Amino acid sequence: MTSKGVDYYKQAAARALQWHAESIRKMKQCRFDTIAVHGVYSMQEALDFNQGSIIEPIYMSTSQTYRDSDEMEAALGYQIPTWCYARIANPSIYYMEGVLALLEAYGTDVDASCIATASGMAAIQCAVDQFLVEDPRRPNSPMNFVATCQVYGGTFQQFAIRKEQERNIQWRRIIDSTDMGEWESQIDENTRFLYGEMPSNPSQAFFDVKKIVDLAHKYGIPAIFDSTVATPALLRPLAYGADIVVQSVTKSLFTSGFGIAGAVIARKGITTNIDNPEMKADFCAYLKQMPNRDNGPNISPMNAILALNDIRTIRHRMDIASRSTMKVARFLKQHKHIEGVDYLGLEEHHLHPLAKQYMFLVDAEYDEQYGAPQNRYGHLMSFRVNGGPANTRKVFDAMQRIWRATDLGRIKSVATIPAISTHSQQGEEGRKLASIPPNLVRLCVGLEHPDDIIADLDQALSVLDGNKVTVTFPEFSAGGASSARIG
Ligand SMILES: *Cc1c(COP(=O)(O)O)cnc(C)c1O
Repeated sequence: MTSKGVDYYKQAAARALQWHAESIRKMKQCRFDTIAVHGVYSMQEALDFNQGSIIEPIYMSTSQTYRDSDEMEAALGYQIPTWCYARIANPSIYYMEGVLALLEAYGTDVDASCIATASGMAAIQCAVDQFLVEDPRRPNSPMNFVATCQVYGGTFQQFAIRKEQERNIQWRRIIDSTDMGEWESQIDENTRFLYGEMPSNPSQAFFDVKKIVDLAHKYGIPAIFDSTVATPALLRPLAYGADIVVQSVTKSLFTSGFGIAGAVIARKGITTNIDNPEMKADFCAYLKQMPNRDNGPNISPMNAILALNDIRTIRHRMDIASRSTMKVARFLKQHKHIEGVDYLGLEEHHLHPLAKQYMFLVDAEYDEQYGAPQNRYGHLMSFRVNGGPANTRKVFDAMQRIWRATDLGRIKSVATIPAISTHSQQGEEGRKLASIPPNLVRLCVGLEHPDDIIADLDQALSVLDGNKVTVTFPEFSAGGASSARIG
């Protein structure tokens, strides 16, 4: 047998990439829902590679085989696309990455790419750590990054402990993220990126995305946003010039709650003061082929397809859940036992006017029912109960339809008390910075009928009038108890 040569495979791959690019180009002309449903999985892809399967197959395989040594050499040298090893690339994972890249760039001419990770926290780490490296042009100079304080509890810990405490990288904390002067005053030549979460979990902080992007670019550094709470159905930071978006896919995108997943989505050609041309050109491809290959924080193909399956309906879900949340927020707002409600959708919220400029249900103008742009604010809200933490616990414990869990974005309504759960580790001082009082309940409204959620809240709040709520549960349920007994 004569050798075909590496070039033969390069040319064959180039032809395949061409029809694939063409099919993606056509998909980009479709509306958001069509992209969410079809993503990068075309009929050609099904017929050429997947036995005609109409749904994206779950490839649990760790690796692929090669026709000969030439193909292997081309693949492992990253000269042709390859599913060489699932820590680096896998078709099922790619189907999920492809759809997220298209959705985050929807309605723009931004060319974006995506890398999926095992969790939202891994996505944040992948997104920021590439900038927290020694700069050979300025060896041993102190590094810092500027980021909002009102962030998810895990993010707070990653920044405060893993970066600052363990690696001596300064987190310059933004207290009031709407204060552009505060942001600018924190930036110097050793600042590596700007980072913000909006709307923030749970305190609903919001800032002017476009202004933060412009500020970052003025200093030649990237703007990175955690856009988990909004999802691409309500806000797409790349459209405002953002360099990198991170998603805890676990939440609204992966609403069924079957697994943990994260994603980094970046525009090609990011702004950075790090001298790394490959990273600049295609941040996610670089991550995939280099750092993540070596660090291994990738998602499982099973979780990728389960997430992908939920992502298809994200626009409809965010619409209904946002409308239900508005109804629930209005109910709570007028309730005598409620001290306050934080929901960006409420006109009284001090950040409502700003959020109103950014948060829209994608494609509402093409929707039969609406025919015009519609503001939607998502399904994360919080409320504060009168009478402090003890009363808050009483009401929380009386919920019967809303599940008590440190989770959000679920198809079921879920509530938590952040001070004793998601945000307990950062301590009182940290919670103060992140605006999390002890009587705050975070509520994420699901897709039940909102009247039933309101009825549950109403009966739960009635315990403060002396009503007794009698619910009996089995004594204990966590599996650790049985393993402890065995051990
Ligand atoms: C949950 C969450 C994360 C972390 O995501 P995991 O998938 O749980 O690792 C990050 N950011 C926000 C806003 C979140 O809500």
